[in-house]
Amino acid sequence: MKIERVETFMVPPRWLFCRVETDTGVVGWGEPVVEGRAEVVRAAVGVLAEYLIGQDPLRVEDHWQVLTKGGFYRGGPVLSSAVAGLDQALWDIAGKHYGAPVHGLLGGPVRDRVRVYAWVGGDEPGELREAIEEQVEAGFTAIKMNASGMLPRSLSAADLAAVVARAEIARDALGPGRDFAVDLHGRASVALARQIVAAIEPAHPLFVEEPVAPEYLHRLGEITAGTPVPIALGERLYSRTDFLPALTAGLAVAQPDLSHAGGISEVRRIAALAETFDVPLAPHCPLGPIALAASLQVAFCTPNFLIQEQSAGIHYNGDADLLDYVLDPAPFDFVDGYARRTDAPGLGVRVDEAAVRRADRSPHAWRNPVWRHDDGSLAEW
Ligand SMILES: [Mg+2]
Repeated sequence: MKIERVETFMVPPRWLFCRVETDTGVVGWGEPVVEGRAEVVRAAVGVLAEYLIGQDPLRVEDHWQVLTKGGFYRGGPVLSSAVAGLDQALWDIAGKHYGAPVHGLLGGPVRDRVRVYAWVGGDEPGELREAIEEQVEAGFTAIKMNASGMLPRSLSAADLAAVVARAEIARDALGPGRDFAVDLHGRASVALARQIVAAIEPAHPLFVEEPVAPEYLHRLGEITAGTPVPIALGERLYSRTDFLPALTAGLAVAQPDLSHAGGISEVRRIAALAETFDVPLAPHCPLGPIALAASLQVAFCTPNFLIQEQSAGIHYNGDADLLDYVLDPAPFDFVDGYARRTDAPGLGVRVDEAAVRRADRSPHAWRNPVWRHDDGSLAEW
């Protein structure tokens, strides 16, 4: 079997899919994307595809090595995400070739279902309770929300009270038996993050995410040492090497993204590294169906797994959503807040190729907003 063609498709709301075709007719799909920089990843996939054409797709690990290290310069979001999508597609091909789900090729399942959480906005506290009640009604046992909208450089008593009020609304709406997680999105400085984590601790969050932006990882230990609240991050880390300092700094929940951190191959290794720190995995995935399918495959066969993010109805999605490009929604039909295991070959997702090709004819150009403080200076989004 040889790889004959690699194509990419820009599909709304903000995704990039890749399709790897072999000479036997077996096709694999992947989702190589950096949100807001999809065109750049598309170019990177095009360059990496030069090597793959004519190669045996079943040599997944060797290709990962060449694509990641063979160009001398390595790492970072663009290259690691390009490799990630191609890696997903190669695992998809391998599963279809051997007639096995990817989790079956990775040692077999260790669980029958995967707990997932739903997003609620959180930027507007007024709508929060209703949004949470909707997700509880839909059966979810956990939600994630932003702690706030834009955060100022310092928190007034009123600012902090507004963050605490959101956490209290969430706890009240969920009751004591369900969970909420809070995403700080790297919006807070280290000092503010410490204030916020301490203030919402009584509401018992499942975890607090990205209390520091990735360039301040060397200060993560100050936050983890000061609170019993589990601290999570990882969507902006791209390899085992990137995760190591976070783990040694007391990271409690590792959140690699299957479409950013080198794909299934590298996230499996990140999980194994995290396991040596007694840290579970909660893969980041505000993305499309292929990224989620790849995440679920890893979740089914990874012992140290906690919970899976998924993007159905997420505020980013707008007009296009998780199920718009799949022929069979069953893998994403969550029951009681869980995804049930699929034993279909490969990633277990049936991509609607016609819908994907149609969407790519008017490609999106999604960009994150640029936020500014009251004084006109750049604020973290
Ligand atoms: Mg996040």
